[in-house]
Amino acid sequence: MRLSQFHLHTEKETPAEAELASHRLMLRAGMIRKLAAGIYTWSPLGLRVLRKVEAVVREEMNAAGAVELLMPSIQPRELWEETGRWEKFGGQLLKIRDRKDAEYAYGPTHEEVITDFARQELSSYRQLPVTFYQVQAKFRDEIRPRFGVMRAREFLMKDAYSFDVDAEGMAASYAKMHAAYTRIFTRLGLRFRAVLADTGAIGGDASQEFHVLADSGEDAIAWSDTGRDDAEGYAANVETARSAAPGPRPAPAEAMREVDTPTQKTCEAVAELMGIPLARTAKSVAVVGQDAEGRPQFVLVLVRGDHEVNEIKLGKVPGLADYRMATEAEILEHLGSEPGFLGPVAPAKPVRVVADLEVAAMADFVVGANRVGAHIAGVNWGRDLPEPDTVADIRNVVEGDRAEDGGTLRLMRGIEVGHIFQLGRKYAEAMGCTVLDAAGKAAVPMMGCYGIGVSRIVAAAIEQNHDDAGIVWPQAMAPWTVAVCVINPKNDPAVAEAAAALHDELAARGLDVVLDDRGLRPGPMFADMELIGIPHRVVVSGRGLEAGTFEYRARTAAEAEHLDRDSLLQRLG
Ligand code: ATP
Ligand code: MG
Ligand code: MG
Ligand code: MG
Repeated sequence: MRLSQFHLHTEKETPAEAELASHRLMLRAGMIRKLAAGIYTWSPLGLRVLRKVEAVVREEMNAAGAVELLMPSIQPRELWEETGRWEKFGGQLLKIRDRKDAEYAYGPTHEEVITDFARQELSSYRQLPVTFYQVQAKFRDEIRPRFGVMRAREFLMKDAYSFDVDAEGMAASYAKMHAAYTRIFTRLGLRFRAVLADTGAIGGDASQEFHVLADSGEDAIAWSDTGRDDAEGYAANVETARSAAPGPRPAPAEAMREVDTPTQKTCEAVAELMGIPLARTAKSVAVVGQDAEGRPQFVLVLVRGDHEVNEIKLGKVPGLADYRMATEAEILEHLGSEPGFLGPVAPAKPVRVVADLEVAAMADFVVGANRVGAHIAGVNWGRDLPEPDTVADIRNVVEGDRAEDGGTLRLMRGIEVGHIFQLGRKYAEAMGCTVLDAAGKAAVPMMGCYGIGVSRIVAAAIEQNHDDAGIVWPQAMAPWTVAVCVINPKNDPAVAEAAAALHDELAARGLDVVLDDRGLRPGPMFADMELIGIPHRVVVSGRGLEAGTFEYRARTAAEAEHLDRDSLLQRLG
């Protein structure tokens, strides 16, 4: 590839609107351009990276035995009525109307469509197990699209769906996808962890998220450090309160004082106390109110995935028998808010009696659950951490505690790039999807669903791999792995020729190489190659030709080296 024939458009200036390094660098490198809130064009450069991620995902899906298909983005309302999700999905579902007034959704996910496909295509257990997948644009009308393609409204997802006759089959299909995901993120060169995700009402071990580790990640994950060097140890998702503007948070004692008159506090005030930008995200909300007798009460509401209003939980407090799921109707009844978006809630809005607790204890639980301004979610007492006896125990669950498997609990930040789930019969049942089993009886297949945020991975990789000069791509994701930079090609035909010959030779050896023949001065040319993160840079100059060497520098190396042709070829592999 000759850069003079490509379209590269980089910017020196740091865009003011971008908060995260990945967003800034993607804009500066000219990888994406915004069309509307959360909607982006991928430039030729950006698309090269996106396609590399896609290719790895596709190869591993195929290797795992999944078969590719392509479903429509536009999905009829009737299908979503069958599972009840037309209403339940909430505000993230973009609803549209055609000229005949028929209603459609722009697909945020494809469980309904795949189940519709399956009920027509699958008739016998002999066709199972089968896993279908696609790589396709999704649309979710996120409350707050931000960080560029990290949380976009239109984004590229790989979604897969497995069908099995029984639970063991489903578990086996799930395990295959888990292994494939592990290979994908390993091949992409990312530091990641698979963590238990909260499975809510389904329970058990049936859902895991894959997180790319990065300090800027929106989620926090807990994992057990057993001293062994494996990524397979115990890990769980801790959902911390997000803070739009991180700042000092009150110490638990102060916080307790702050909420000691909860009946007068609005949900917003408590959220502020917890460092949760309530108006901006419905991820975590604490509500303080009073019951019918005027006793102060609190409910910890955890929203897992902004659209899943039915995943809201009443928090577990000591003295309560167990976590329980609150229904959407209950939540709406108590909070009086729109589906998909909670709060701010009116002051002293009555809430359900959850326990007879002292105010101080409640405050302790809310603010001091694990550390100031954060609470643990997706981590269940008893399952993931020792069952606490007292409020003080809960407060003390911080980094350094003992995890289930005897390791030490560590907290890290992560970016959710993949999510796998055992769905069971939920969708197939609701939509009347059956196959004949070995005995000739109609059986409802058991499903799994498996998502990867293909476009989010690009941003997550940058978040994890960048420096002051720009992006530092892992080899597998780089737009090109080698840049051959020509010094002064216009005035020095011999140099231009030598560079072109080197480019062709590297390309013939199967390297993904780009020739920077734009004729830029060395400074700006090198700055561009660093900004766009090319792993290997080779400079061809008149001086080098005379000496019989090429200047080589790895993106991560501090210094350049002068190598002869053979050493260079060896270095580039
Ligand atoms: P999040 O918690 O970040 O909102 P999610 O749990 O709602 O994500 P899933 O329904 O699990 O997302 O979708 C599968 C994958 O799609 C996610 O793991 C993530 O990588 C990606 N994804 C989800 N929402 C977005 C988005 N708005 N922009 C980019 N990628 C996304
Ligand atoms: Mg999520
Ligand atoms: Mg979401
Ligand atoms: Mg998810």
